[in-house]
Amino acid sequence: MNRLIRVASIGLTTAVLALTTACDSGAPAIDPIDYAPPVDTNAVFAPGSTMRQLQEQGRITIGTKFDQPLFGLKNPVTGRPQGFDAEMGKLIAAGLGIAHDRIDWVETVSANREPFLQQGRVDLVIATYTINDKRKEIIHFGGPYYVAGQALMVRAGNPDRVTAPDDLAGKDVCAVEGSASSTNIRHRVPGARVVLFDSYSKCAEALKNSQVVAMTTDNTILGGLRSLDAESFELVPGTFTEEPYGIGIARERADLVRFVDDILRTAFADGAWSAAWDRTAGRVLGAAPPPPDLERY
Ligand code: GLU
Repeated sequence: MNRLIRVASIGLTTAVLALTTACDSGAPAIDPIDYAPPVDTNAVFAPGSTMRQLQEQGRITIGTKFDQPLFGLKNPVTGRPQGFDAEMGKLIAAGLGIAHDRIDWVETVSANREPFLQQGRVDLVIATYTINDKRKEIIHFGGPYYVAGQALMVRAGNPDRVTAPDDLAGKDVCAVEGSASSTNIRHRVPGARVVLFDSYSKCAEALKNSQVVAMTTDNTILGGLRSLDAESFELVPGTFTEEPYGIGIARERADLVRFVDDILRTAFADGAWSAAWDRTAGRVLGAAPPPPDLERY
């Protein structure tokens, strides 16, 4: 059985440190993109539908990560998150007739995504959020809009020679509370000691400080964190799970699921999805893969 170690949060977030490091090393810091997709001002929604309600409100609240480069990283100048998740949010809002500057962004971490939807604190969660059966018992998912895979990141030079998940038996590995990654690693390597934080930026800091030998989550997140501090980290090649990213929606709002899927279907077909990828995650992770199958998950 795993020994779970809950570690108190550390003061400074790694995102801030990493950004400073990125600037110092001459690597690209925060992506200055602030793309505004065309807003559908003619959309007509059935009275009483969730879409009509949001359209009339003229605002939407979206939960996303604030410390994850490439997907959701809060820009300290605009105060808005940037990344592929944020771009998906902007596309959906635009389809409801809501401009990107009328989105109320709320930070969600891995563990509070379902509660925030259930409590009505957010209308959508777009936050590297894996669609899985356990979560589907509580909430709905639109999508998927991307399929990631779980991987491992170690310190540069791989001092502990971690080449596969099984090498973590008897060692400390960092994961985030409430994440699919933490559940997966416990099942995959029962002998690993899983050290939990509430965010990936804190995990990266623990790895950098040698509190753990590795951190584990989706290859997308690890690739983004490494891109900000390539001198400190390296990825272990390969993935060992499939993580289809969905758009979290409250249980009682099934109509919004169909709407979100329609927006994604259109974005897959008209190039908006791959353009969003190219100007965010694609800058580090490479060309967009074919869009995922909306019927599969
Ligand atoms: N995709 C995984 C999950 O939804 C890991 C990433 C995250 O925690 O956001 O749990």
